Amino acid sequence: MKSIQTFQVFPDIPEPLSFIETLSRNLWWSWNQNAIELFRRINPRVWEISGRNPIVFATLIPQERFEELAHDDSYLAHLNHVRRRFENRVLNQVDSESPWDQQELIAYFSMEFGIHETLPLFAGGLGILAGDHLKAASGMKIPLVGVGLLYREGYFRQYLDKDGWQQESYPETDLFHLPLSKQKDRKGNDLVIHLTGIGRDIHAQVWKIRIGRIPLILLDTNLPDNPPEIRDITARLYSGEQHIRLAQEVLLGIGGLRALEALDMHPTVCHLNEGHCAFVGIERLRQVMEQHQISLDMAREVVPRTTVFTTHTPVAAGHDEFPPSMVKPYLEPFVEPFKMTADQLVAMGQADGAAPESPFSMFILGLRTAQYINGVSKLHGQVARHMWSHIWPTRSDDETPITHVTNGVHIPSVLAPEIKLLFERHLGPQWNMGSTIPENADRIDDVFDEELWQAHEMCRSRLIRTVRELMYRQYSRRNAPLNIMRAVESVMDQDTLTIAFARRFATYKRAHLLFQDPDRLEAIINSKDRPVQFVFAGKAHPKDNEGKGIIRSLVDFGRRTNLRHRFIFLEDYDMHIARFLVQGADVWLNTPRRPMEACGTSGMKAALNGVLNMSILDGWWCEGYSPERGWRIGNGEEYNDHNYQDTVESQALYNIIENEVAPLYYDRPHGGTPTEWLKMMKASMKMAMAHFCSLRMISEYEERFYLPASRRFEELVAKGGAEAQELSAQHHRYLEKWHKIQLSAPQRSHKGPFRVNQAFEVTTVVQTGDLKPEELNVELYYGKMRHLDRIDDPRVKMMHVKEIRSPGVYLYGCELPCSDSGRYGFTVRVTPNADAWIRFRPELLTWA
Ligand SMILES: *Cc1c(COP(=O)(O)O)cnc(C)c1O
Repeated sequence: MKSIQTFQVFPDIPEPLSFIETLSRNLWWSWNQNAIELFRRINPRVWEISGRNPIVFATLIPQERFEELAHDDSYLAHLNHVRRRFENRVLNQVDSESPWDQQELIAYFSMEFGIHETLPLFAGGLGILAGDHLKAASGMKIPLVGVGLLYREGYFRQYLDKDGWQQESYPETDLFHLPLSKQKDRKGNDLVIHLTGIGRDIHAQVWKIRIGRIPLILLDTNLPDNPPEIRDITARLYSGEQHIRLAQEVLLGIGGLRALEALDMHPTVCHLNEGHCAFVGIERLRQVMEQHQISLDMAREVVPRTTVFTTHTPVAAGHDEFPPSMVKPYLEPFVEPFKMTADQLVAMGQADGAAPESPFSMFILGLRTAQYINGVSKLHGQVARHMWSHIWPTRSDDETPITHVTNGVHIPSVLAPEIKLLFERHLGPQWNMGSTIPENADRIDDVFDEELWQAHEMCRSRLIRTVRELMYRQYSRRNAPLNIMRAVESVMDQDTLTIAFARRFATYKRAHLLFQDPDRLEAIINSKDRPVQFVFAGKAHPKDNEGKGIIRSLVDFGRRTNLRHRFIFLEDYDMHIARFLVQGADVWLNTPRRPMEACGTSGMKAALNGVLNMSILDGWWCEGYSPERGWRIGNGEEYNDHNYQDTVESQALYNIIENEVAPLYYDRPHGGTPTEWLKMMKASMKMAMAHFCSLRMISEYEERFYLPASRRFEELVAKGGAEAQELSAQHHRYLEKWHKIQLSAPQRSHKGPFRVNQAFEVTTVVQTGDLKPEELNVELYYGKMRHLDRIDDPRVKMMHVKEIRSPGVYLYGCELPCSDSGRYGFTVRVTPNADAWIRFRPELLTWA
């Protein structure tokens, strides 16, 4: 069977329905309820069988059904309504008030993209966030292109064996039934990019998929001409093998940017979603040099000032590192254009002053090539500043140049259809513009309690129905006995308080917290007046036996006859399961070990649907929590003794369920709706709409990073890179001359003590060496003392030259105002009077 030829037969969709084909080739449909309904109403049962994939779906619909619909007025009206919306949202030119020019382009790189369950290119939160980023960019008409890898097997599917032990399977993705298009080069041949690998070249096909207005470019090495080890590069997401993982990251960073070049896309800004994509920086240096005919030194002033780097991992060990000898072959091709040795190139990913054999860190490479660095929640920003403060050893944690942009969720993708209808009615047609229309959040109060409760109950019913179906499938796969199969069909109760816990079974997420006291848990579940039911879902990493053990103990517990009914584990957590859990549960439980949860966006999805959060104060919940919107477990403490912490926090969790959650839920005045609960639901929905929406998130990226960086790119490369040249000269001058700077210990004009509103003068003598005073910022650094020797919440005040003592020696001074009472400390320092990229070079800071 060597010479198999293939061909595809598509349904012959009648002309009046031709838009269906256009629609099925753009994932825009996946977040537009009316578009989903346009498919679904053709045949709802077949829609589910197709796995909600419009292309598969169309092949399962008989030709007669299409002919029938082509003459169905109501269907055609529905179709035209969706088409007009599609044209308006996706095809229209950007409006005149758009701040973006034609030639500006943001390239967004990510190892995973979670857009819809039919496109298995993601493992978890990081990917879903990337998907939401693209959808939000489409909504806000930001000129952005996504870049990722096309995995043939995606992330694994989970199923449990008879003992409750997780098994993994890796079904191959059927590319022919995905809305992918092969990209062509100028001559009309398949567009393939080439990279130098270890011993062998890597060839990768370039594909495109449309996410609303946003193209997502994907690379694929599974080509007939590639040897097996090269094909394997894009076989699976997050391969456990280090050399494959490195090859993936090289392909994504270097190959991804080359694919854009081949498509004639020249980004003015690159955004790295996590350190995996940091090789972008190296390839971008080369491209900027070539395209703008500038030197490497000049390009090194351009690239960081126009690169955004988002980090998601609050543990140092979670960041990828590789042995330098592995990285070197991939960087060899850059030796020539950069006129550097391979070792010098490798050093771009090693800590300052590190030994040549020390690991190559993707995070450090990212830091060296990006000025705009952010964590994904306020707390995570703080954690990241602390974790990476050793890169800026001369600065305090507070001044580590890492900020945060709290994640948000794409509202139309996660909102229940029932709630969408309420929003459409009460918030108006622009409800899906989320936080960009501030009135949207306030109008949630206008929704009637009865209506909201009814909508929520419908969501809970759907959850229970789906749980029963999935459980039935789970058990029949395991050939369970008939009596169990019968029981499975009636699990869960319609009116019982439902708590969901769905997330990766990583140890730090602590699914086991709930089991610290099994008897107490059992009593909670089987309470006579106020029963509680639990639904769990989530995958453990294939190599994480501890996580798998937690799943097994959970399944074991749920097998007790008196609990079976109310304690459920669903296999194979994915976007589809997530959707009805975040819509249909009453409470969303999260028990991470603070501060390990960088953000935790599933809680935002729940909040938006009126599902109340009960969580450790970690990630986004530190920003979202208030007593009228949900519950916090503990007060945000961090412990060294993990066992002790688990005991304390599990007790707190039981107490909250018993004393607060259950009583409130079952409080139904006059047998009606739970009034107080509904108040919390609305408060929670308002919070999510106003603050945790992906449009808010992308607007922040746009205003704080994309726009300034993109404008900067245009300035820096203009006129043959004149400004880049100046910056390069300035940068070198500082680096060369800095070591001569000295400053004396600060002197004060009075000893004190002082009264509020008094002030005194601080002076210092600065030897500026070869640098001129106008090149330097001499700063007074002061604030309240936290400990014996630490200044808390420091403030900085510029000092000025008061006297020239001798050539190159200056007396600087300024006033220190005593604005509040307390114990203060102060000192002085010198930094470059330059832009942020130069100012924050670790070596350009001298303290007295
Ligand atoms: C939203 C989502 C996540 C991320 O949420 P966490 O709170 O970080 O777990 C993960 N997986 C799926 C399927 C999701 O929909």
